[in-house]
Amino acid sequence: MRYISIRGRTEPMGFSHAVLAGLAPDGGLLIPEHVPDVSARLARWKRLDYTTLAEEIFRLYADIPASDVKPMIRDAYSSFDTGEVAPVIPVGGIHVLELFHGPTLAFKDVALQWLGRLFEYIVRQWGARLNILAATSGDTGSAAIYGVRGRRNINIFVMHPYRRVSPIQEKQMTSVLDPNVFNIAVQGTFDDCQAIMKSIFRDLDFKLRYSLGAVNSVNWARVLAQMVYYFYAGLRVLEHSGASQVRFAVPTGNFGDILAGYYAARMGLPIGKLILATNENDILARFFNTGEYRRSEVVRTLSPAMDIQVASNFERYLYYRLGEDPAHVRELMERFDRTGEIRVPLRAGTVDPLFVSRSADRAAILDTIRRYYEMHGCLLDPHTAVGVFVAEQFQAVDQPMICLATAHPAKFPEAVFEAVGRDIARHPVVDALRGKPTRCEVLPAEEQAIRDYITSHAC
Ligand SMILES: *Cc1c(COP(=O)(O)O)cnc(C)c1O
Repeated sequence: MRYISIRGRTEPMGFSHAVLAGLAPDGGLLIPEHVPDVSARLARWKRLDYTTLAEEIFRLYADIPASDVKPMIRDAYSSFDTGEVAPVIPVGGIHVLELFHGPTLAFKDVALQWLGRLFEYIVRQWGARLNILAATSGDTGSAAIYGVRGRRNINIFVMHPYRRVSPIQEKQMTSVLDPNVFNIAVQGTFDDCQAIMKSIFRDLDFKLRYSLGAVNSVNWARVLAQMVYYFYAGLRVLEHSGASQVRFAVPTGNFGDILAGYYAARMGLPIGKLILATNENDILARFFNTGEYRRSEVVRTLSPAMDIQVASNFERYLYYRLGEDPAHVRELMERFDRTGEIRVPLRAGTVDPLFVSRSADRAAILDTIRRYYEMHGCLLDPHTAVGVFVAEQFQAVDQPMICLATAHPAKFPEAVFEAVGRDIARHPVVDALRGKPTRCEVLPAEEQAIRDYITSHAC
């Protein structure tokens, strides 16, 4: 499989190149040249365990020998606290897909435990080195750090918005003291961090000189790894329910997680609806309801990993929605950068019949956490609660609902306490953070400051 840029001004490249590059040299996101149709394989796939299914899906997209893929994937998911990796739990009228069994208790571990090993593998094959630059609104940072800590010939630089991630998220990142891990607290918002990162990646000389790589959800390997649990959960729930289609509700920030669901649907997984759930930062919900994609200010919410306005993966979706026309994508994204708004014309009153979308405010999140705890004894984290709240508005009798549980509630104990009035969101991994020493650099939200820091600490 070769990878192309959605902006259309880069030569196609192989999988390993695409993974190391993150973004294409023309500034576009990389996507596979074509999306394989797997409909004929689904009957067999529904019997596979998680890691075997991951190997099959991976092999469709990656030019790495199967004998190397297998141990990498097994090793990645051996760090999870359940062999099932992503268990599906029926709760009330929905199915909760638990994606938080990795070392940092958030769904990003599913991709990043694997990506860290993939990076190490590629770097070893090429006799290269790699400096990873990441921007995080909370969970990506710790998951990325845990994915690459201690790995050879890889350094990682993680920018997070200073004091705008939860105390536990901050501690998870800054308490990793491996010498190849560099935490940077940027005095600005997540969008500032992301803008700095994108701008540095656009400087191809700098990127080459320091072999910069990306772990943000722009990295294709992350989208690929996330497809697996859509197939895994979707095929299981279809089998048990006898339904012919399922729905997925996805709490969304950067459009990375739900994009994997979109690819799964394009590959032939029978998904009736993708339910895109946002918090008050609802640019994507507004888009899917009106066709207008218009930036506004980031507001802080109970679900900080979704406090994002400009979703970095949205362009990949836009590419398909615009009929796979790079010139059109380029034109719209340039207009968006200039004016902060673009519009996609509706078809039959909708942007896309596959997507429906709503947002959840603070009261809805708290109420949803309280209700699921009181009625079902199920404790949701505030991100998952956004998805569940919106899912409830799109229930269909003939299509089972799978809600992606993106974090363990113990990562967000304050919100849980506010909702249920008791201090019950606990996990031994979080308890163990208390008292750990930390290391972090606070820098202004200026590109030059970040560049200087990278220059003096690159491997
Ligand atoms: C990152 C994150 C999300 C949002 O995922 P995107 O891929 O950015 O849409 C939702 N919930 C949690 C807990 C997260 O860490």
